[in-house]
Amino acid sequence: MAKEVKKDPQDMSVEEKLKALYQLQTMLSEIDKIKTLRGELPLEVQDLEDEVAGLTTRIEKINREIADLKGDVAKKKNEITDAKASVDKYKDQLDNVRNNREYDVLSKEIEFQTLEIELCEKRIKEYNAAAAAKADEIAKSEALLDERRKDLDVKKSELDEIVAETKQEEEKLREKAKAVEATIEPRLLQAFKRIRKNSRNGLGIVYVQRDACGGCFNKIPPQRQLDIRMRKKIIVCEYCGRIMIDPELAGVEK
Ligand SMILES: [Zn+2]
Repeated sequence: MAKEVKKDPQDMSVEEKLKALYQLQTMLSEIDKIKTLRGELPLEVQDLEDEVAGLTTRIEKINREIADLKGDVAKKKNEITDAKASVDKYKDQLDNVRNNREYDVLSKEIEFQTLEIELCEKRIKEYNAAAAAKADEIAKSEALLDERRKDLDVKKSELDEIVAETKQEEEKLREKAKAVEATIEPRLLQAFKRIRKNSRNGLGIVYVQRDACGGCFNKIPPQRQLDIRMRKKIIVCEYCGRIMIDPELAGVEK
């Protein structure tokens, strides 16, 4: 077969072109069958990988937020230390006041710093509560991540197994399909691929079955059937647009 297809696509007869297209379709359909065998697995693996990545990013983000909150707590603790030092200093000074005015100023300062300390303590409580809530969120996310990772492992090994089983076959088919594609003129190949893509069963070229199109099963007028049998023109179904050939050319016994 390989020897006789080494021909300039332009020099191919219509019959040869149709034969090549039908051969190509047989290979592409085989590849489709392999893909069907893999089914939704590649998509499921992709979804799980996305989810694992998403959860990992989320956990990292929450961890950074917790670190920020811890930094805020440390800052407030420093402020408390400073405020307490000020209170101690003012209390010492209270022992040596010379007049009421000085006493009032110092008392006000002490009151203010004490309020500051209370406010800082309140903030620390809030920050710690927020950090605890975030830690909770991380624990939940990590549990979910663990689950998804396990799912991913299972699906991935399922997919790997199927791919390993069918890889060689698929590669061989792809190579063969490529070789046949190279013999078909680009415009015809494009048209064929477009028809194939638009058809639900992936058939772009069909053979006549009981005087009807093998794709949509609409009846073909006798003259067109004759034209198809002549193999001199590329004839498409007027209903579904598929290329039609006679059963003998498709290698189907009549
Ligand atoms: Zn049709």
